[in-house]
Amino acid sequence: MRETLQLVRCDPVKTEIKPTDVRLLTASRVLEIEWADGRRSRYAFPLLRSRCQCTECKSTILRNGQEALAPNENVAIVNVLPVGSYALQLFFDDGHDRGIFPYAYLRELDKQL
Ligand SMILES: [Zn+2]
Repeated sequence: MRETLQLVRCDPVKTEIKPTDVRLLTASRVLEIEWADGRRSRYAFPLLRSRCQCTECKSTILRNGQEALAPNENVAIVNVLPVGSYALQLFFDDGHDRGIFPYAYLRELDKQL
């Protein structure tokens, strides 16, 4: 059920606001995104790592009965690539590189910060 809802929410035509600028601030260990509507979001590296939504992380979260992965405070992001026109792929220095973060999800995360 939840999966279906997320698909609707991530509909790129209807709801997506795209980034105009994506920066890795390695000194402050923050991913900064400027959005087309003028908003600027800043995400700490450990937060993004703990909120990874890939199959592997989701199953770990389910198995442990938690809402998110335990944060690794030392984790860093070493690269960011756009995925199509709807998401960013984040490469973490703990070897984890399968995290796809749809723009809609990143905006949702920003609201919770
Ligand atoms: Zn993951």
